[in-house]
Amino acid sequence: MTKTILIVEDNEASLSLLRDFLEEEGHRVVATGEGVEAIALALENVPDLVLMDIQLPNISGLVLADFIRGNSNLKGIPIIAVTAYEVREEEQLLTAKCDAIVRKPFSFDALNAVIDKFLNGPKRVSLS
Ligand code: MN
Repeated sequence: MTKTILIVEDNEASLSLLRDFLEEEGHRVVATGEGVEAIALALENVPDLVLMDIQLPNISGLVLADFIRGNSNLKGIPIIAVTAYEVREEEQLLTAKCDAIVRKPFSFDALNAVIDKFLNGPKRVSLS
């Protein structure tokens, strides 16, 4: 069954590469470079997985993750954060809100392994 992945990435070149790669893998992709639109797309599409950059215009990936976790229709969706952040305090926040962190630069093979794990594995267990 086709899985839907929401990509949130404000770098157009990165977004294009990710979209092409995931579509080649057979996934349906919905994508945006902006956090507010990402919320709208998430509500409309209820994706099977969210792949998101942390540094985004208007609202950060962390705020987006908070929204997803707080919405009853979306809270079980695995979130993979893609980030160049080196700040270690940020790591705790990311770990609490997201299911996996992939650091830039990454190989598509490594990213794909993480994505497949969540698409084929058990859904996130919600504690709330
Ligand atoms: Mn960014």
